[in-house]
Amino acid sequence: MKIHEYQARQLLADAGIPVPSAEVVRTPDEAAEAFKKFSQPMCVVKAQVYAGGRGKAGFVKLVKSADEAREAAKFMLTHRMTSYQTGPEGVPVSVLIVAPGVDIAQEFYLGITVDRTRNTVTMIASAEGGVEIEEVAKKSPEKVIKEPLHPLLGLQGYQARELAFKLGFKDKMANQAAKLMMDVSKVFIKTDASLAEINPLVITKDGKLLAIDAKFNFDDNALFRHNDLVAMEDETQEKPLDVRAKKASLNYIALDGNIGCLVNGAGLAMATMDIIKLHGAEPANFLDVGGSVTPEGAVEAFNIILSDPKVKGILVNIFGGIAKCDVIADALVKAGRQIGFKVPVVVRLEGTNVEKAREILSGAKSELPTLQTASDLTDAAKKVVAAVGRVAA
Ligand code: GDP
Ligand code: MG
Repeated sequence: MKIHEYQARQLLADAGIPVPSAEVVRTPDEAAEAFKKFSQPMCVVKAQVYAGGRGKAGFVKLVKSADEAREAAKFMLTHRMTSYQTGPEGVPVSVLIVAPGVDIAQEFYLGITVDRTRNTVTMIASAEGGVEIEEVAKKSPEKVIKEPLHPLLGLQGYQARELAFKLGFKDKMANQAAKLMMDVSKVFIKTDASLAEINPLVITKDGKLLAIDAKFNFDDNALFRHNDLVAMEDETQEKPLDVRAKKASLNYIALDGNIGCLVNGAGLAMATMDIIKLHGAEPANFLDVGGSVTPEGAVEAFNIILSDPKVKGILVNIFGGIAKCDVIADALVKAGRQIGFKVPVVVRLEGTNVEKAREILSGAKSELPTLQTASDLTDAAKKVVAAVGRVAA
């Protein structure tokens, strides 16, 4: 789960990290008011979205008057933000922050994430932070320092001090930077985060250390113990189908192909996508309805798959174990009656009560003319690929 920058700033501030104050605003007039309230020569107006790259996209703007703040806010609130992180459709903007502008002497990058190649939580830092950090990491990886956290003890004081010196901090500033690193690592662990990022962490021209951007992602599997974080979620920032799938406890990931997959079990879903590709087509999604799929879950799964206009055919691949095949077949027929299958649907069922399931499906054939049954997985893949081919022709 993600949260907005203004919420992430609050988490950092609560952990004792220096973060400039900011006003959360939702209209151009509120932005102008916030500018006046700070009575500073310069403020920054920033779109609050679940994606980075705002600076380069024009959604972080330095303004020098209340009118400029109003104009910047007006632009941001009436345009979707598109960056290399969002895809061409972009994300909607409905919340902004206005914060006093900072005179920056140097920008650093500081992050903590789960480094899967090292099997550990790792602190990542660079003295060349800011909007070009991806380029720095690509072109000069030696400028990005990585320090693993001990799984039980977390970041150690000596590691933080060493990192601070490697980044070029000196004297008192090195102590401040090291403390800040310890504080970020503590809030990362406490919130069960999967990413905590301050980019940029800056030294101001008058020698202060400040976090002027903040980003947190959290481990969804740990959210049950963080009701305060769950309450921060902004569903308008997620893709509508993702939100629907989550509500129905479906594991759904949209992909680029045109064959929708409805499968129970993540491993079976992977195998189903593989076999679709093997037979020359591309899956439109990964959808795992789980081991104990209910009729309601199956109907919602079909609804979600069919809401994707790219889907030209569906492959249902269910292994009846805990969920019995006849129950699934009933759910399929029910979904077909409710939604009406406008595209070919190929069904492969195997496992408990499969014979009963086949009877149910063949009994519904006249009602659901686009429904086909398959004898095995290869047969199913061939049939759906052939059907989609025919649809495209
Ligand atoms: P991001 O592009 O989405 O990561 O948004 P950031 O909040 O990191 O802002 C992008 C860039 O805008 C930063 O790297 C800074 O260079 C600049 N920026 C942001 N806030 C200020 C500010 O208060 N003063 C100045 N001078 N630059 C700022
Ligand atoms: Mg940033």
